Amino acid sequence: MLVPRRCPLCEAVGPAPCAPCRADLRLAGMLPAPPGCDSFAAVFAYEGAVRSLLLALKYRNRRDALHWLGRQLAAAAPDGITMVTWAPTSTARAGRRGFDQAELLARATGRALHLPVRRLLRRTEGGPQTGQDAAHRRAGPRFTPVRRVPPGPVLLVDDVATTGATLAAAAQGLRAGGLTRVHAVVVARTPRATNTPGVAGLTANA
Ligand SMILES: [Zn+2]
Repeated sequence: MLVPRRCPLCEAVGPAPCAPCRADLRLAGMLPAPPGCDSFAAVFAYEGAVRSLLLALKYRNRRDALHWLGRQLAAAAPDGITMVTWAPTSTARAGRRGFDQAELLARATGRALHLPVRRLLRRTEGGPQTGQDAAHRRAGPRFTPVRRVPPGPVLLVDDVATTGATLAAAAQGLRAGGLTRVHAVVVARTPRATNTPGVAGLTANA
């Protein structure tokens, strides 16, 4: 049975998001690339309609807008990408939901770009580690490569960036796996991220 696509914001049947809701989405400005990333693009500011859109995907498994989001991410990607991957959500969180929204976004982006999408990273939460101070432990997850791939430019997809710390950690993992060019793209960045140039002073990533 073909289920009609609905706008996840206002439930109107048709394009997702619908034209009036799309008009409420605010584009993000330019951002400094997190360490380890050769470039970084955020499509939207994380507020209002786009925040609702991502929360609907993440917590209500509303995939209506996924195709459209994939095309926005693809449009924000630099030329020359050969593969798409994502920064995995913590296994506990993804397991509870039954899906990883970052993976869904990466797959939608890969479809839009006609490029292969590969799981390249394993995530480990930043628990207590010998020799690390409290600030380091709070710094977030670590990523390790799960396979070696040819070192073509890779597109690293995530849903939201706040500090850029997750993207930086993921880029580090990709480089450890042999990749030399990492381009990050996210659907949205938090408005606070514009206040500070660079990653160090930005607020904690969700
Ligand atoms: Zn709508």
